[in-house]
Amino acid sequence: MEPARKRGRSDMWEHFNLIAPDKVRCLVCSAELKYHGNTSSMIRHFTAKHGAAVNQGNTNQVDRKRELDEALVNMVALKNMVVHRYEEDKTKAKAVVQRVEAVSLTADMWTSINMDAYLAVTGHYVDDSVRLATVLLGVLPFLKLIQLETSMLQQGHSWNNGALKAK
Ligand SMILES: [Zn+2]
Repeated sequence: MEPARKRGRSDMWEHFNLIAPDKVRCLVCSAELKYHGNTSSMIRHFTAKHGAAVNQGNTNQVDRKRELDEALVNMVALKNMVVHRYEEDKTKAKAVVQRVEAVSLTADMWTSINMDAYLAVTGHYVDDSVRLATVLLGVLPFLKLIQLETSMLQQGHSWNNGALKAK
């Protein structure tokens, strides 16, 4: 306990400015306190007014850093899992589309939480057990699709029955 208390004392100068030889100002609430050459009144003020913060010395910063590191590791692991799952499903979807006789396509527009528009293309087909099945074929940002369409039209493709076809 003793080292933590010592650290707490010296850390008081992180929370106060000496504004006169006998006066300090709290950086949290701007309260001015008499300074008598030691930090005891500062500790008293800080513990009473900002009690939760006084115990958050270096140890909690280390904890916080470790939490952030762990979160980052989890994020990377999650991203790898998503990429892996995407590749798996893409392979499956390709195999399905190649096998079935006919695929009917539908397109859905949706908007992400930060208002980016996406166009999703879903294929509908009858599977081996004569059941209607669906497969998501692609999701692209809508803006990118418009750019793609424009560049394809410029390259001499044309719209035919709602599908972009080569001339
Ligand atoms: Zn204060």
